[in-house]
Amino acid sequence: MHVVIVGGGVIGLATAWRSLVAGLTVTVLDPEPAGKATAVAAGMLPAGNENLYDQELLLRLCIASRDRYPSFVAELEETAGLPAGYRRDGVLEVAYGEADLAVLNGLRRWQENLGFAVEALDAEECRRQEPQLAERVSGGLLNPDDGSVDPRTLSAALIAAIGRLGGTVRAERVTDLLVEGDRAAGVRLADGGEVRGDRVVLAAGVWTHRLGGLPTGIVPEIKPQKGQTVRLRAERPFLARTTRGLVNGRSVFAAPRLDGEVIVGATHESRGYDTTVTAGGIGELLDITRELLPGIGELEFVGAGAASRPGSPDGLPVLGHTALEGLLLASGHGRIGIQLAPVTGDVMAHALISGELPEVAKPFSAQRF
Ligand SMILES: Cc1cc2nc3c(=O)[nH]c(=O)nc-3n(C[C@H](O)[C@H](O)[C@H](O)COP(=O)(O)OP(=O)(O)OC[C@H]3O[C@@H](n4cnc5c(N)ncnc54)[C@H](O)[C@@H]3O)c2cc1C
Repeated sequence: MHVVIVGGGVIGLATAWRSLVAGLTVTVLDPEPAGKATAVAAGMLPAGNENLYDQELLLRLCIASRDRYPSFVAELEETAGLPAGYRRDGVLEVAYGEADLAVLNGLRRWQENLGFAVEALDAEECRRQEPQLAERVSGGLLNPDDGSVDPRTLSAALIAAIGRLGGTVRAERVTDLLVEGDRAAGVRLADGGEVRGDRVVLAAGVWTHRLGGLPTGIVPEIKPQKGQTVRLRAERPFLARTTRGLVNGRSVFAAPRLDGEVIVGATHESRGYDTTVTAGGIGELLDITRELLPGIGELEFVGAGAASRPGSPDGLPVLGHTALEGLLLASGHGRIGIQLAPVTGDVMAHALISGELPEVAKPFSAQRF
């Protein structure tokens, strides 16, 4: 079976690699592989955050992906011969004021009920763990099973692994889906060429529903949600682990990379397909984060990025077969696509081979709309 994957962000690449491992033939098409949301993302991997309070099914998918990450990365690094940039050294969440602490305590109780190994930390212990934290930090919680991954390093490893297993990643833009009879037969490229396949997977982030040739009603609209992050560099290790903070109700984070970079984020903006890095967006992010970590003002400014998170109509991932024979979707991962990459890769390979989604992914069927 030859699988044509449109989009080489983390979701398309994870799908490609797991499909190759399962014995399929794969071609990934993307003018700028791993260059959009995947390149801008922080790569925090907190399995149970406040956005999942009333999302039990999505929470289950997140936990499955968290538990899958270590073995996914170990196998990937072995195949690729490259590091994947994964760290399972916990995520620290801290509160700035008393009201923030009350919110965090609510999160901790919810996580304890889920059986997470979460630890409550007083203000002093937070600062002992992370000496850069401001005096005003009022307390926090540590999730030792969580971690982070550098999405750019992860993507480079995925591309290498795809190559080593005989797959292809081609720098091509797809313009249209080719439909023959009543099934997907391949895609047309911007240069007029065609790539034919037995299955087509659309994993093109916020552009998934915008290809030409899609039959009406088959692919739900994937809405863009803009986010900006800032990249800083520290001479000496600045943070031991990813640290999220609630500052007067605003959530920010700083994620240290193994190479000394510190990623600060993220904004959440409704700006359509606009991905301009703005002075206001970056300025506000840095101002809030400086309340929490005053020392970031001294770090080197490396750059900033903006991208669109892909959001489905109900805010949940969109996975597996569509109503058009041979056409599958892997999109709509919103703000947690890096976190969900391992489970998505497995689920999509399973769907390609068996024609069905595994149990954990059934609620996210592409045919639910
Ligand atoms: C500021 C920010 C911070 C984030 N932080 C985190 C985080 O800490 N943890 C987390 O889990 N997630 C995070 N995310 C979310 C995460 O980045 C996304 O969920 C994830 O990258 C989605 O991956 P994707 O492959 O679906 O989309 P993308 O990464 O956007 O990839 C889509 C790909 O499709 C390609 N494409 C588009 N059109 C075509 C075409 N016509 N032909 C061929 N290819 C095409 C694009 O070039 C692109 O490479 C963050 C996102 C943002 C913006």
